[in-house]
Amino acid sequence: MSKLAVNKDFCIGAGLCVLTDADVFDQDDDGIVTLLVDDPGDGPSIKEAVANCPSGALSLVDE
Ligand code: SF4
Repeated sequence: MSKLAVNKDFCIGAGLCVLTDADVFDQDDDGIVTLLVDDPGDGPSIKEAVANCPSGALSLVDE
C-alpha cells in the first residue's frame, strides 16, 4: 500500500488533479492543491493524478 504525499512547494496550480478526482483534490485561493480527505489511499484516480501532475507535487510513497 502506498500513501499519497503532497509537496505544495512544487504545485504550480495546474489543477489537473482536481479534474482527475474532485472528491480528493481541491485548490485554495492561490490555486495550490489541498486535500479534501486525510488519507485518499492509492486507487486508480490517485495514481492517475500523481502520473499527470506536471510539477511533481504529488507522489506515492511506500508505507
Ligand atoms: S496537478 Fe499538480 S501542479 Fe496541478 S494543482 Fe494538482 S498538485 Fe498542483
